[in-house]
Amino acid sequence: MDNSNVKHWDNDHFLHPWEGMATLGKNDRTFIEGASGIHVMNEKGERLIDGPGGMWCTQIGYGREEMAEAMAEQARNLAYFSPFNNSNSTTARFAREIAKRAPGDLNNVFFTTGGSTAVDTAIRFVHFRNNLLGRPEKKKIISRQKAYHGSTFLAASVSGKERDRHWLDKADDLAHFLPDVNPLYRAPGQSEESFLKEKVSDLENAIVALGPENVAAFIAEPVLASGGVIVPPKGYHESCLNICKKYDVLYISDEVVTAFGRLGHWFASETVFGIQPDIVTCAKGMTSGYAPMGAAIISDRLIADVAGKDATFSNGYTYSGHPVSAAAGLKSMEIIEREKLLEHVRRVTPIFQDQLQQLGQIDIVTDVRGMGLMGCVQCSVDGDPQSDLGCDYEIGSQIDIECQKRGLLVRPVINMCVLSPPLIISESEIEQMFDVLRKGLEATS
Ligand code: PLP
Repeated sequence: MDNSNVKHWDNDHFLHPWEGMATLGKNDRTFIEGASGIHVMNEKGERLIDGPGGMWCTQIGYGREEMAEAMAEQARNLAYFSPFNNSNSTTARFAREIAKRAPGDLNNVFFTTGGSTAVDTAIRFVHFRNNLLGRPEKKKIISRQKAYHGSTFLAASVSGKERDRHWLDKADDLAHFLPDVNPLYRAPGQSEESFLKEKVSDLENAIVALGPENVAAFIAEPVLASGGVIVPPKGYHESCLNICKKYDVLYISDEVVTAFGRLGHWFASETVFGIQPDIVTCAKGMTSGYAPMGAAIISDRLIADVAGKDATFSNGYTYSGHPVSAAAGLKSMEIIEREKLLEHVRRVTPIFQDQLQQLGQIDIVTDVRGMGLMGCVQCSVDGDPQSDLGCDYEIGSQIDIECQKRGLLVRPVINMCVLSPPLIISESEIEQMFDVLRKGLEATS
């Protein structure tokens, strides 16, 4: 096939997510044309380690023949049918497997097309329930600065990245944002314990100020991902859940990034952070990126409040529970289990985190942080550790360019690079990845 014009076609016809208008039609994007294991291949045929794991999602790695086979078999047998009045055994089976692994009584899986629609669905369900319980004023959602929950109108309205909120309208009355929970920004001399208290008080004060009768839910990522891999102070989620319970506010845990193994467990809420949320949202690693899919997983307790009522939860998608995605999800789950990838992640995490810490000595690096197979290198050229809001706007992209020259793709986010490689990454590949990143950072310094 003649591909000599594809760069022009890309510029002329393909509007990308987060398309920058200043460079519209003038981009020179790296084309990824193939992939195998933890490597992707660019249009020049060069192999690059996939540092971002696609986009936090390629858990089992690329090029799995049995994934292609499972999806092809499903497509041959039943590529699609409407989930509205009918069902199919593949999707029903996947729902059951997810419910078995989800925390506590989270047994009700509402399939969506991705993470944004999962968050959208979670909020719509929370509102629906409150309408049915006769308290329609209880609608506000408390979220956090720097959180990313998606791109639909509702999900974007509860996302707290200031720069992204600038250009598009949002539901202004819906959300309230709590200050940054990054322990890096605690006051000089402030202990982690006192920082934790302050952050939990931020939540309680917000609920009280808004009026508990108006607050429907708190939404939080266990580890705030694309906002810069922000790990909250120890005990944060547990304390926040207790506050939520005190004021009858629901807890939505957005596990779009953290579920399906990224922190070494199927779900991070219960096993890593000791909480049983009311709703968990997930997507990404659910199918290891082989097909689009997401879900809002709702507790039995919440479902019991609406079951039997003369009402319809009028929310859903043509592709809710798409059978080919469900087949991909089931096979990916089987591979994660058969290859003991959760245990593998727990075993290689100390190596990953140790290598990450060592990058802290490089001149331009102002902070390194992470958890499980999630990592972030934050940089500044002016030495200001707080400069993570765009002052060194290009530096993340410069680091990515330097790393790509040396065989690694990283994900630039303003002045940060985030890492979340496929879960199958070996110890030696982790070392290799950080070796290239070190060279890329030094070349940028
Ligand atoms: N929630 C979180 C925590 C995310 O990181 C993302 C995407 O990065 C989303 C929701 C939105 O997911 P999607 O892009 O699949 O719609």
